[in-house]
Amino acid sequence: MAARKKAARAKRKPAAKKAAPRKAAAPAYMTNNGPRVVAPKAPRLKVIPEPQIIPARHGKAAFVKKGMHIKVINDKGMQVLDNWAIAYPDLNEYMTMEHTRFEINRLRVKKSDATWTNRRRKMFTMVEDTSWGYHDTQVASCDIFLYKNLGVKGYHRSCTDNFWQACADIGIAPPHMPGPLNLFQHTLVQPDESYIYPLPKAKPGCYVTLRAEQDMIVLFSACPFDLPQYPVNGPGGQINDCHLIVY
Ligand SMILES: [Zn+2]
Repeated sequence: MAARKKAARAKRKPAAKKAAPRKAAAPAYMTNNGPRVVAPKAPRLKVIPEPQIIPARHGKAAFVKKGMHIKVINDKGMQVLDNWAIAYPDLNEYMTMEHTRFEINRLRVKKSDATWTNRRRKMFTMVEDTSWGYHDTQVASCDIFLYKNLGVKGYHRSCTDNFWQACADIGIAPPHMPGPLNLFQHTLVQPDESYIYPLPKAKPGCYVTLRAEQDMIVLFSACPFDLPQYPVNGPGGQINDCHLIVY
């Protein structure tokens, strides 16, 4: 009897097809190191072939395509240029010093080295360097909080503010400011692993040339740090213009 009932039920309801094993979808946070943040098609994102000034104490952004070069000229020498690079169009891919130091296996970026992104892709390669070869990867950009901690009263321009101003100038809004590559900055690690900041030695007119390994927005700040505690921009607190040429 029970067997007949079972057979009748089986007749009424055909056995469900065995479901194929489902492929587990990887969560977004595991796949691409953050969501895509797509830049708008801003008309200001175009290659400008003429030399451009990076004014003392201010920032500048430039759009470059893969294979192009950015020549960054230190007109008077000694001027530190904080440098960032953000992929285009996904603004959530950016050059990071943490990834770069691992990939090049040293503390400083030198000629022939590439810099790397948070998605382990090359951002640019330093194909020329006529400076004395010191480019810091260790130190965060200056900001209003640093100047306040060092006793500055009132507003003092900073590389952080210059980054955001340069982004606004070119019409982009990245999700955050990455740590910088500090071009021409002399940071030394002592045998006891402490840092010192000796006077920079970059000569007037020296330059680096960066070859873009992907489409990107490259940004610079002529660091306005002029306090005597750390003469990162040379003695006397003099801050100078620099130039860049995209070709
Ligand atoms: Zn600065």
